[in-house]
Amino acid sequence: MATKARQAAESGELAEKIARGREIMQNCTLCPRNCSVDRTAGETGYCGMADRVEVAGYGPHFGEEQVLVGEKGSGTIFFCGCNLRCVFCQNYSISHCFEEECLTVDSGQLAAIMLGLQEQGCHNINLVTPGHIVPHLLSALQVAVEDGLRIPIVYNCGGYESMTALRLLDGIVDIYMPDIKFFSSESAGRYAGAADYPETVKRAVLEMQWQVGDLQIDDRGLAENGLLVRHLLMPDAKADSESIFTFLADRVSRNCYVNIMEQYRPCGTAKAFPELGRTISSDYYQEMITAAKKSGLTRIESNDFSQLLAKLFSS
Ligand code: SF4
Repeated sequence: MATKARQAAESGELAEKIARGREIMQNCTLCPRNCSVDRTAGETGYCGMADRVEVAGYGPHFGEEQVLVGEKGSGTIFFCGCNLRCVFCQNYSISHCFEEECLTVDSGQLAAIMLGLQEQGCHNINLVTPGHIVPHLLSALQVAVEDGLRIPIVYNCGGYESMTALRLLDGIVDIYMPDIKFFSSESAGRYAGAADYPETVKRAVLEMQWQVGDLQIDDRGLAENGLLVRHLLMPDAKADSESIFTFLADRVSRNCYVNIMEQYRPCGTAKAFPELGRTISSDYYQEMITAAKKSGLTRIESNDFSQLLAKLFSS
């Protein structure tokens, strides 16, 4: 299957997007933080990243959705830095602190990582939290598709994406996978310093749906293209979750593929917020699955026992 990035490289569209991305970084408005710093001159904004890409790790990953994992895993690449930086982040040391082991890579090296994952049989390239390095990703994809990358590109993000970045990604990304975290400005401001998150994520998800549509799954059960939405359940946030389900069903699509995740645990500095100090009970999880179905959503990934077993034995 030819990826969209391959088609864009062949038409010359990808080269144009790379040039546009570099321009945007000179007065960076790549994400909704709108820092207006010149990253090409070494300045850094909220995400902490100047004109470079740092990789924290990569490899076939079996803990993702079954439609991404298949038999050989999702080719996951974890990037350092983040434009959202939630207090409860499970990858806190990578997103906030820039661990020493974060490795700076150039376009050729990032392309080689992608091609290596494809070589290992991974079913897709799963880019984790890439919003602040979109221009670099485009440059790496140019090299990778020229050298034979042909598996789908998954844009795995926190949903705090600007229209500027999404326009650069239009015609490049095969599968968008945003995690919708909050629908209340108060929570988004308190836990991620982004009170505008709810309005931003709504716009972003609508744009993603417009670009790629409902998730398409091939006859092997693997995602080919489309939108896959995650929602990490948070303690005592039922109203937020219900509003997210209603938004998805009414404004995005009843056929939107949604993974409702129950693995929240207080990581990072979450313990400084007493209300975040709990995990999600199975009753709470089941109640939210019921709420999602009630909202009209028809494609909900659940953590049923057979799926968990499949994941355990393949990792
Ligand atoms: S990508 Fe980084 S520097 Fe650019 S606007 Fe976002 S947080 Fe600021």
